[in-house]
Amino acid sequence: MFEKILIANRGEIALRIQRACRELGIKTVVVHSEADRDAKYVRLADESVCIGPPPARDSYLNMPAIISAAEVTDAEAIHPGYGFLAENADFAERVEKSGFVFIGPRPESIRIMGDKVCAKRAMIEAGVPVVPGSEGALPDDPEEIVKIARQVGYPVIIKAAGGGGGRGMRVVYTEAALLTAVATTRSEAGAAFNNPEVYMEKFLENPRHIEIQVLADGGRNALWLGERDCSMQRRHQKVIEEAPAPGIARRLIERIGDRCAEACRKINYRGAGTFEFLYENGEFYFIEMNTRIQVEHTVTEMVTGIDLVQQQILIAAGKKFTLRQRDVQFKGHAIECRINAEDPFKFTPSPGRITNWHTPGGPGVRMDSHVFSGYTVPPNYDSMIAKLITYGETREQAIARMDIALSEMVVEGVQTNIALHRELMQDVRFREGGTSIHYLEHKLSQRP
Ligand code: ADP
Repeated sequence: MFEKILIANRGEIALRIQRACRELGIKTVVVHSEADRDAKYVRLADESVCIGPPPARDSYLNMPAIISAAEVTDAEAIHPGYGFLAENADFAERVEKSGFVFIGPRPESIRIMGDKVCAKRAMIEAGVPVVPGSEGALPDDPEEIVKIARQVGYPVIIKAAGGGGGRGMRVVYTEAALLTAVATTRSEAGAAFNNPEVYMEKFLENPRHIEIQVLADGGRNALWLGERDCSMQRRHQKVIEEAPAPGIARRLIERIGDRCAEACRKINYRGAGTFEFLYENGEFYFIEMNTRIQVEHTVTEMVTGIDLVQQQILIAAGKKFTLRQRDVQFKGHAIECRINAEDPFKFTPSPGRITNWHTPGGPGVRMDSHVFSGYTVPPNYDSMIAKLITYGETREQAIARMDIALSEMVVEGVQTNIALHRELMQDVRFREGGTSIHYLEHKLSQRP
């Protein structure tokens, strides 16, 4: 087992990884920017190294600084968390070339899945159903593009092969708007992701976002740990996630779960990962794979009792991965609300000093957060300050507990989206379960 792991991330996930390490008896090194000097996880870590000024490109994305920090502290492995360098194949490669273990998949797997055109091709080969669309990247010839769109059928969505984080996508309803949309998406993708390649998919009009968690050892042992419903989104960004997905027959989940596990075996996938699907009229359509731990991994942990971050570490350490599919048992229901420092209905960021912070508790309540009274939310990073997770024997109980937990929570000094979450917990359609990815935006547009 590793003696010391370096955590190349910040915020709640830095603390989450640290907790997993401590439980496994592993020492931690945290790298941080000047903006995060006083963070809780920096104080709790066995060692910390300041790697640069606040902008992420100078610190959390600064590969040489992170690798030097691992060298000077004698860390053996690097956990990238999510975001920042977590899905950067070059980083994974540099980590390994420098003699450290990258806690995640092999660089090749990250590279394939990071290019959504390659990822879709790999999934088709592995027998996973995908969204109908262009075969690979769109060609240059405008006539060809028009032809492809007619075959796919409007509306279509133009997506950047290198896209991520809900960016680099454009929906097209008519042929008249097609070519401009392709050109704009291409140039945006070139600038944002350094890859102008785009592809086309049928735009599904009322799907849900359902994803499957997997764990695999890089060889024959691969398992799936159930699904998460992440349909409550704004601008393609998840706001609430839950497990299991309400109203989907277990046999459908089992069938797609088995396909995902089989795909992992085919590509020799190693570590934790997520297959993301759109789900409509009883069918699953693959959209992308995330080759890292996800923000919403917590709800899977709550319903399976399996610590996913510890499993990532054990797999990376080359420990025999003994978990089997039959060991994965599901119990109860879990919901996660992402608490952001932002205006709850205008969504403008609200950084600043938290003057008062009180977190809820009680049965079935889990709070993953690095925040405390007196903490200053820096303006440099994303606005998530906490994840509030509740568990119940039933979905109703998990929702009731979430509503109570949200009502107990006190945050002063910055604005948060707690009011939005409370509204959603009371929302009749949400309570029924099964709303589509468009529901939240639709609801917000109806507000006076
Ligand atoms: P990213 O990597 O940026 O998260 P994804 O491919 O995972 O991009 O898509 C993010 C979200 O965009 C999905 O959850 C869904 O809301 C929407 N989306 C993507 N593809 C389609 C599609 N073909 N039809 C309808 N919505 C889509």
